[in-house]
Amino acid sequence: MIVGIDLGTTNSAVAALEGAKPKLLPNALGGYLTPSVVGFDSNMTLLVGQPARDLQVISPDRCASVFKRWMGSDWKTTLAGRQMDAVELSSQVLRSLKRDAEAFLGEPVDRAVITVPAYFNNEQRQATVMAGRLAGLKVERIINEPTAAALAYGVHESGDPQLVAVFDLGGGTFDISIVEFFEGSIEVKSSAGEAMLGGEDFTRAIAREILRDQQLLFESVENRQPRRLARLLQQCELAKRALSRQESAELMFPGEDGGLDPNAPRLLIDREFVRRACAPLMGLLETPVRRALGDAGLTRDRLNKVLLVGGATRSGFVQSLAEEMFRQPPSAELNPDEVVALGAAVQAGLLDSHAELEDLVVVDVAPFTLGVEVAKQLGEEMRTGYFSPIIHRNSVIPVSRAESFSTVNPNQTEIELKIFQGESRRVEDNLQIGNLKVKGIPRGPAGQQVLVRFTYDTNGILEVESTVLATGERFQTVITRYAANLTDLELAEALKRMQDLKTHPRDELVNQALLHRAERLYQELPPPARAQLTLLLDAFEAALQSQEQELVEIHRQQLEQFLSFLDDQSEEL
Ligand code: AMP
Repeated sequence: MIVGIDLGTTNSAVAALEGAKPKLLPNALGGYLTPSVVGFDSNMTLLVGQPARDLQVISPDRCASVFKRWMGSDWKTTLAGRQMDAVELSSQVLRSLKRDAEAFLGEPVDRAVITVPAYFNNEQRQATVMAGRLAGLKVERIINEPTAAALAYGVHESGDPQLVAVFDLGGGTFDISIVEFFEGSIEVKSSAGEAMLGGEDFTRAIAREILRDQQLLFESVENRQPRRLARLLQQCELAKRALSRQESAELMFPGEDGGLDPNAPRLLIDREFVRRACAPLMGLLETPVRRALGDAGLTRDRLNKVLLVGGATRSGFVQSLAEEMFRQPPSAELNPDEVVALGAAVQAGLLDSHAELEDLVVVDVAPFTLGVEVAKQLGEEMRTGYFSPIIHRNSVIPVSRAESFSTVNPNQTEIELKIFQGESRRVEDNLQIGNLKVKGIPRGPAGQQVLVRFTYDTNGILEVESTVLATGERFQTVITRYAANLTDLELAEALKRMQDLKTHPRDELVNQALLHRAERLYQELPPPARAQLTLLLDAFEAALQSQEQELVEIHRQQLEQFLSFLDDQSEEL
């Protein structure tokens, strides 16, 4: 069975086709969004999703979140003494989604389409494929999140030709795509983005502003009082969400140890405060929008619709910004948190040649320019460091293009090709994504030719091939540290390492999640309510020990009711 997965910075979701319609599949707690948070509880048992998010508030050192940002990098983190990288952490989120899908569908799920931000580079895409493999999934296709959203929208809506801007602001990335819908075809005209900008940055910007008001520096709190920062971020997140519904919100400012004193005065922030705190970040959205429109050869007034995607577009100030930018109110037809996973499921159906999707055609583009470093003769001087594009941004994919390059020195027998992505004329401002050494060039005068072919596939993964024209000898590389470089043995070892982690059986997850939620709320409560929660918690734990199902059920319900009451109260702050 094949599913579609939105592996998000803050939340992830899994969906599958039911007939011609994509449908989200629930997790063990009955929700459709699984927080992309991984942690270890005090027994070193792995937690994924909401229980890990709850644990993170009180024990940030045992949990990791927002790791999607570090996909494809050397970043590692230590959770409860165990080192993990972004691929391993993501694989645990995927494994949990796979398990949920299997439980719901009642059959093994071994293949997936996974979405990534359009602006993800090669390494980040390959890292995503690797995370899928470590979760026991064959990744059949990587697709761009805004394209997935367009697919979900396209299936949902089949009417007149339309030009649509997909404005996708998630937890960690911003993408903008201009898409044309025309008689069953979905054509991405252009895509642009900002890889390091999302709702999490807004939350941090709000926290920074609050700390500044308290004469504290964000960085020093982050380094010296991580618990305090974790708690403040949680409070800012709640306030930010509350401000999507109301004009102002209260929050509790944590003490040095991260504790919340219920008697301390509350801080009041309003929409204007958030707008001010986030203003510098909001400015960063304009450039990609302008670029995407320019590349599509369109002016803003030609757009028929603006689709909002990603959790951060729930903020009122983001919606007003989108309205100002596009001079029309954005459409709110689809749920911005769910549409990417739904579109991934449609793509999964297309790959499986699902009969009811027969007529749908999707065309996507490469969002950035890819090329190599070259030297230029400027007058007398030979200057290095120039970028020579081979595949231009917004070329329709798959695409394969070749250019020839010449040696610059007499008797030069080797060329070290440096491969870059980016839009700057000079390579120092672009991102180096790989190298390819070309050897065996016959000795002779400068100007020996080498043909360099770039092939960019439908997954957004680049392959570079170079041919020495004089000898016909070829050199090839797939630009990645992952997959291609891992031997079967290494892959098997990595898989085993991930599988060996202790997890809770699925039927215990609801109870475990409840315990972690209770622990988190306990720390937020004033003493009288703490006593009441302690009673309920003790009774629940005793029931769990007894393994009497009926008893567990009664105490679970009592505890759940009390926690919902507490959560509602803190939402209203
Ligand atoms: P995603 O990665 O698409 O799940 O987006 C998650 C981001 O959306 C996080 O940074 C959240 O803070 C943000 N978000 C979710 N719900 C809301 C809301 N109601 N108001 C403002 N931001 C939200």
